[in-house]
Amino acid sequence: MSEKKWVYLFHEIDKAKEAVGGDWEFVRGLLGGKGANLADMTSIGVPVPPGFSVTTEACNAYQIKEEFPDGMWDQVLSSMADVEKATGKVFGGKENPLLVSCRSGAKFSMPGMMDTVLNIGLNDETAVAMVNLTKNERFVFDSYRRLVQMFGSVVLGITDEAFEEVFDGYKAKKGIVADTDLTTDDLKLLTEKFKMVVLEEKGFEFPQDPYEQLKLANEAVFKSWMGKRAVDYRRATDIPDDLGTAVNIQTMVFGNMGWDSGTGVAFTRNPANGEKKLYGDYLLNAQGEDVVAGIRNTEPIQHMSETLPEAYKQFVEIVTNLEKHYRDMQDVEFTIERGKLWMLQTRNGKRTPGSAVKIAVDMVAEGLIDKRTAIMRVTPEQVDTLLHPQFSAESKRAAKAEGRFFSSGVNASPGAAVGQVYFDADKTEQMAKEENQKTIMVRPFTKPDDVHGMLVAQGILTSEGGATSHAAVVARQFGVPCVVGASAVKIDLDHRVMYVGDQVVKEGEWISVDGTTGEVYLGQLERFAPSLEEQKELLNLLGWADEICATPGVRSDHGKGFPTVGLKVWANADYPQDAKRAREYGATGIGLCRTEHMFFEPERLPSVQKMILAKSSEERTEALNELLPHQRKDFEGLFTAMDGLPVIIRLIDPPLHEFLPSAEDLQDQIITKRIENMADYILGKSETKSIQELENMLREVGSLHESNPMMGLRGVRLSIMMPEIVEMQVRAIMEAAANVALKGVDPHPEVMIPLTGHVNELKLIQPRLEAIAVEVMEAKKVKFNYKFGSMIEIPRACVTADELAGIAEFFSFGTNDLTQMTFGYSRDDAERSFLLKYIEEGILSKNPFQTIDRAGVGELMRIAVNKGREVRPELEVGICGEAGGDPNSIEFCHLIGQNYVSCSPFRVPVARLAAAHAAIKHQN
Ligand code: PEP
Ligand code: MG
Repeated sequence: MSEKKWVYLFHEIDKAKEAVGGDWEFVRGLLGGKGANLADMTSIGVPVPPGFSVTTEACNAYQIKEEFPDGMWDQVLSSMADVEKATGKVFGGKENPLLVSCRSGAKFSMPGMMDTVLNIGLNDETAVAMVNLTKNERFVFDSYRRLVQMFGSVVLGITDEAFEEVFDGYKAKKGIVADTDLTTDDLKLLTEKFKMVVLEEKGFEFPQDPYEQLKLANEAVFKSWMGKRAVDYRRATDIPDDLGTAVNIQTMVFGNMGWDSGTGVAFTRNPANGEKKLYGDYLLNAQGEDVVAGIRNTEPIQHMSETLPEAYKQFVEIVTNLEKHYRDMQDVEFTIERGKLWMLQTRNGKRTPGSAVKIAVDMVAEGLIDKRTAIMRVTPEQVDTLLHPQFSAESKRAAKAEGRFFSSGVNASPGAAVGQVYFDADKTEQMAKEENQKTIMVRPFTKPDDVHGMLVAQGILTSEGGATSHAAVVARQFGVPCVVGASAVKIDLDHRVMYVGDQVVKEGEWISVDGTTGEVYLGQLERFAPSLEEQKELLNLLGWADEICATPGVRSDHGKGFPTVGLKVWANADYPQDAKRAREYGATGIGLCRTEHMFFEPERLPSVQKMILAKSSEERTEALNELLPHQRKDFEGLFTAMDGLPVIIRLIDPPLHEFLPSAEDLQDQIITKRIENMADYILGKSETKSIQELENMLREVGSLHESNPMMGLRGVRLSIMMPEIVEMQVRAIMEAAANVALKGVDPHPEVMIPLTGHVNELKLIQPRLEAIAVEVMEAKKVKFNYKFGSMIEIPRACVTADELAGIAEFFSFGTNDLTQMTFGYSRDDAERSFLLKYIEEGILSKNPFQTIDRAGVGELMRIAVNKGREVRPELEVGICGEAGGDPNSIEFCHLIGQNYVSCSPFRVPVARLAAAHAAIKHQN
C-alpha cells in the first residue's frame, strides 16, 4: 500500500481531486478553502507564490496523539525541497534564503480564529543574506522583529503585552510616534530586545533553525484548531469540530521592497452596492498588515494604473478571469514584489444584501450563472432585510458607545422604528392622529382591542409575550416593527414610565425599536428605508423563484395527490388593503383572513357585544343582522382584491370574553358611576340604567370566565354552541362572493372551520353552513366555486385526519395552536417564562413557535397530510401559522407535500425565495 499523502503541493490539485473522488467540496474539505483555491489558481496559471497544503486529515490525526502523523513531516521536507526548486531559493540559505508563511485554512472561513506565522526562515544568518540581496536593511530587520514577536506570541504562547511593553517603552524613550519613524538601527535593536523577551519568558533562545521554526509553527496552527476562540466560533456558526484545519505553507513575497513593490486587497465588484467595478485599496512599499491596520492611508486600486501600470494591467486581467472561473464576486489579496505580481488569496467576497441581489441578477444577464444559481446566492434573510427600514450599523454602534442601549427581547416583527413612547392604544392613536407624532406603543402585552394603537404606531414594544403572542402576530401582519418579551423592562402604567435599572423612559420620550434584532435604544437612531417596487433586481429574482416553483416535476411524484410543482405563497390578510399589498408582493392567494379583527371596529363592537349578551336566539339574530352588511362589505373588498385567486376566510375563533371589557375595568366604571351618583345611592334610589347595564355586562363577563380560555369555548366549539354567529358569517361570505361575481369578479371563497378536533364537529356544523352557500347561490342566481375546510391545530385532528378529510376539502395547519397543544406550552407565556432559557441551554435548538419542530409538531403534520390525502387525494394543504413565513419551516412544508404556505404580506417575498430554495435544494 502506498504511503498516506498528507501534503499536496499547490500544483498537485489533480492528485487531491483523485484522492477525494473528484468532488470540489471534498477537495475544499481536504485542503481547506484557502489551500484549495491557491491550488486551483495555480492550475489555471495565476501567479501564486509556490507552496503546499498540509491536509485537514493531518490536523485531525494530530489532535489524537498531539504529534504529527507518520510520514507527514518527511512529506513537508520534500515539499520544501520542491518549493526551493521552484523559487531558486534555499530555506535557511546564506545567499538567497527562502522565507515562508504558515497559515491556517479550514474548509469554511473562520476569520481571525486561528493562527498564522509569517517570515519563517529568518534568523541571524539569513537576515544578513537578505540584506545583501535586497540592499534594504530596514525592511529585513522590520521583518525579523515581526517574526520574533509573532512566533513568540502565537507559537510560544508569550503574551502580546510582553512585546508591546518593550516596543512602546522603546518608542517612548526615543520620542518616536509612528512605527514608520523607526530607523534600521532601532529595528535591529528591537529584534534583539524581542529575542531577550523570548529568553526571559521561556528560558530558551528564539530558535535559529528554520526547520524548527516551521515545525513549531505548523504544530501551533494545528493546536489553534482546538483553541477556545476557534471552538467558540464553530459553536456559533455550526461548523463541526471534525473538519480540521489545513496548514498552508507558502513562499513569502514582499510588498515592502521599494517603490516598485506594493500590496493590496480588492473585490471584483463593489460589495456595498454590487456595481460592476473593481473596488479596493493598495499601498506602495508596504506589507499586507499595513493595509489592514490602517497605519498609512491607502490609495484606490485604480490609481495603480499610474504607479505600476504593467502590474495593474495584469492584475485586472487575472481578477476578471478569477471571477469568470469561480462565477462569483471575488475578494482577492495581492502583493507586487519588485514589479512582479503575486496573488495571495481569492475567495467569494462577503457582500451586503442589496449587492447580493444585484450581483446575482447581473451575473445571469452576463451569462456567468443560471437563474437557479442566482436564486441560491441570495438568502431569505437578505430579502427580509431589503424590505424593512433598518438602523445603520454606525448609528447603533454610536448609541451603544453613548450608553443608550436600553434592552432586548424577542425580534417579533422586523424593521426599524423610531418614535415617542405611549403606554396605551388610545393615547398612541391620539398622539399619532391628532398631533401627527411618530409613536411607539409600549404595553406589558397587547389584546385585540389594542389593534387601533398598533395600526398607527411606528413600532411596538412589550415586556411580556413571545413570537406568536398577539402583539407579534398583529405586528408582523401589518409590517410594524415589534419587539416582544423584553422582560427586563418594567412598565409602571400608573406613573406612565418604563425603566431598566436606572434608565427611565417617560411617556412622550423617544426610543428606537429594532424589530430585526430585538434591540431597543434610547433616543432616535438613524434609519434608511427601502421599497420593493423600486428594487427591480429583487423583483426579477423573485420572478425566477416563482418560475422554479411553478415547474411541474420540481417535486417528484409520490402519488396520492402529492404536488409535483413547488409551494405556492399566499398571505394572511384581514383587510382589502392588506390583500392588495399581499398581491403586489406576489401572493397568489389569501391563506387566512381572521374575521374577528373586523368585529373590533368601533361601529361594530356594540353589535358584537349585543350579540354576546343576547338572552334569546332572536335577540342574537337581530344583533347579527346588524353585523352582516359590514362583514359582507369586508369580504367583497377581499374578493375583489384577490380576483381569480383563493381566499380562505376563517370563521370566528377567539373566546367571546375577548370582545367584552375586562371585569376589572367594569368594576372600576361601576364604582366611578356610583360615586358620581352618591346622593341617590344614600337615599336608596334604584340604580341608573347605565349602572344596571354595566352590572349586566359584569355578570356576563363573569359567566364567560374560563380558567383556561385557550382550551375553552373557542373555534368550532363556539360555532356549535352559537351557530347563529357562523351562519351569519357564511351568509356574508357567500353573498359577497355572489355580489362581486355579478359584477364580473371571479371569487374563490374557502370557508375555514378553526380548532377542529373531532370529525363529528365537522359533521354537525359543515352541512348547515354548506346549505347557506347553496341557498345564496340560488337566491342570487349566480354560481361560483367554493370550498369548506378545516384548520388543523389539535394533535387529535392530525392523527384522525383521514376522518376529517372525508368532510373537509382543505386543511390549513394552524401551527401556533398546534405547537402550543403538542408541546403543552402556552403560546402567550412560554417565551417569557422558560422558553428562551430552554434555547440557551440547548434543550430546544430553536423556538418552536418560530420554526416548526420537525420531530414532534412536524411529524404530526406529516401524518395529517398523508392520512388526509389517502381519503381525498385532491385535498389542498397549507399552513397559516407564524411558521409559514419561516424559511426552515417552509422547506419542511415543501418536503411533506403541502400546496402552499401563507404568511404576513410583508413576508411574502421572503417566502417566495425560501420556497424556491427548498425546490432547488431537494429536486431529485
Ligand atoms: C394558528 O393557531 O396557527 C393560527 C393561525 O391561528 P391563531 O394564531 O389565530 O390562533
Ligand atoms: Mg389558532
